[in-house]
Amino acid sequence: MDFGPSRVAISNAVVSFERDIAGEIKDKTKSTRRYHRKMDRQRRAANPQNYNANGTIRKGRKTWLKKIRYQQTQAKHAESCRQAAAQRKSIHGNLTYDVLTLGTEVIVEKVSYKAWQRSRFGKSIAKHGPSALEGTLTRKAENARGSVTRVNTYQTALSSTCLCGARCKKTLSQRFHACTVCGLGTAAPLPRDTFSAYLAIFTESETVSRKKGKAATLSSRLDLEAANSHAPGHRTLSCVLSAAAFSQKPRPASRPAVEVATQVAAQVQSPEALNTDGGHELRVPRGLGAKSGSRADLESAKPRQRKPARQVRNAVTSDASRIPFL
Ligand SMILES: [Zn+2]
Repeated sequence: MDFGPSRVAISNAVVSFERDIAGEIKDKTKSTRRYHRKMDRQRRAANPQNYNANGTIRKGRKTWLKKIRYQQTQAKHAESCRQAAAQRKSIHGNLTYDVLTLGTEVIVEKVSYKAWQRSRFGKSIAKHGPSALEGTLTRKAENARGSVTRVNTYQTALSSTCLCGARCKKTLSQRFHACTVCGLGTAAPLPRDTFSAYLAIFTESETVSRKKGKAATLSSRLDLEAANSHAPGHRTLSCVLSAAAFSQKPRPASRPAVEVATQVAAQVQSPEALNTDGGHELRVPRGLGAKSGSRADLESAKPRQRKPARQVRNAVTSDASRIPFL
């Protein structure tokens, strides 16, 4: 996974996609600002002794009078914040669930959300809460006997490394990966976050367990060879690769993670096959029921009708094809 202040790119060995961290959340920046201004006005009206003539706050010890109207505004503001937090939490839960259907061994970059918050993404971080999402993800992955590994960004440089090994730093506004050395991403657009999420799969980290059961990452390494050999089998990357007319190497199935991924790929194809079969099966009993016209026939036909549909639905939830991005 590759975290941004408001978006996250998710990738396994087969698929990758991007999602908003809390995209559907209601934008409350305007109403929050209005609450803050209203409370400021009310504070000033009730406590003129605490302000200088030019409107600045007086130095020294002060007592503040909170009038009833001020308290009401404060309560409304608090309720608005609570709603946003609850909504965010729910969205994070859904997203976490979607991620864990792809796999429970999650690899993320070790980034400082606090530094982001301080530097230039303060409002965005406050709205989306990427750190809270990572916390939820860690907790739920561990409950599912998985883990969340944090790789060292300095050693792996996922956002600037290419499949050919060339390193090229991108500015924040450069949203796509385009290598000047091998030409990857020049023929077809390759979103940079999606690409670094894919590369993150092939990092290996040495970890040491510290106090309170927390694991600390000592060093991380990016296995570019593995990343190269699995790229042709990856849905997003294979499109980019074929667009660039890359020479496709034969794909060894050495890593167990990849074997799992190929199984998932087989499952991805199977629901489509099921769907076409299921479509035929759905029609036949319905036609028979209409001919005979008896209720017993219809009822006996019903479970047969539903069965393929349910199989399809289960198959879809267990793999990656449910992702709208694809
Ligand atoms: Zn390259």
